[in-house]
Amino acid sequence: MGFWPKGYKCCVNLSFDYDSDSATIWRTPLDIVNQSRGRFAPNVAIPRILEMLDRHELKATFFVPGWTADRYPDSVKDIIKHGHEIGAHGYTHERLGELSWEIEEGVFERSLSALKKLGVKPEGFRAPYWLISDRTIERIKQFGFSYDSDFMDNDMPYMLEWRGNPTGLVELPVEWMLDDWPQYDTYKRSPEEAYKEWKPEFEGIHRLGRYFGLTCHPQATGRISRLDMLEKLLTDMEEKGDVWFATGKEVADWTRKKLA
Ligand SMILES: [Zn+2]
Repeated sequence: MGFWPKGYKCCVNLSFDYDSDSATIWRTPLDIVNQSRGRFAPNVAIPRILEMLDRHELKATFFVPGWTADRYPDSVKDIIKHGHEIGAHGYTHERLGELSWEIEEGVFERSLSALKKLGVKPEGFRAPYWLISDRTIERIKQFGFSYDSDFMDNDMPYMLEWRGNPTGLVELPVEWMLDDWPQYDTYKRSPEEAYKEWKPEFEGIHRLGRYFGLTCHPQATGRISRLDMLEKLLTDMEEKGDVWFATGKEVADWTRKKLA
């Protein structure tokens, strides 16, 4: 018996971390060109990605920093209108693990109030840079999230225990190899090279009936050749006929039902 809903052999969650210029405005305040790279997302990438997902009738999860929601509300509303899930992703893309307890609390409050203005109460949380501390797990519970997506210790979703105690949170694990940022930004790889790395990983996950969580950034993946490559990979997946494409919330709800 497989883990996934009837008829599905494995699960794919496509997620986009919609950082826009939140990180660079704070990290490189004088470098206005570097900041402009993030604006490629609201200007060009988001409409292009939404159009591609519509064509495939796929729903994705967008982790949105509060800054992006405040600065580009129409763009985030557009994502919501297309039926995608919105998760939380800090306010200005902070390195949460390095903040004081008080400042971290303020970040969660501002992040949630920015999303609330757009009518969103997120169930999912993903830390900027996947950087959290022990304490952040308490925060994620305190602020009422149902799932987290930061750890790298599995390729199946699971109920998150921490220091021997259940947290009540579902964990949707991630991995740097399944992230477009190292591919395109850190290592300046081509779309073909990214495909070469992701495709066999997907084939293995399909063979063993496990979970494929892909993390993309609109400003990176929204370039034409890269989005074409992502579409090719999604088409390969669709052709299997037994892949469950699910939002983070759907995966979390299913996992809770099976394991909690
Ligand atoms: Zn991010």
